[in-house]
Amino acid sequence: MKRNDLRAYEPKKCWVGETQKISYPTREEAEVAAKVAEYEHHISGLSVYKCEYGDHWHLTAGGKDK
Ligand SMILES: [Zn+2]
Repeated sequence: MKRNDLRAYEPKKCWVGETQKISYPTREEAEVAAKVAEYEHHISGLSVYKCEYGDHWHLTAGGKDK
């Protein structure tokens, strides 16, 4: 059973209030995802923060939904 490796390609989700957010296991991965969103979707001003419900990170726009 080495299939756990595949989970790395499948973003995990976390419920924060009423929204389900993608969670990233490390700050680095969250920052990479923020850069990708900036380039591919022209979303700027994304920042990363540590989730208060689990040991992972989320992206937030404008830092207002924390
Ligand atoms: Zn979370």
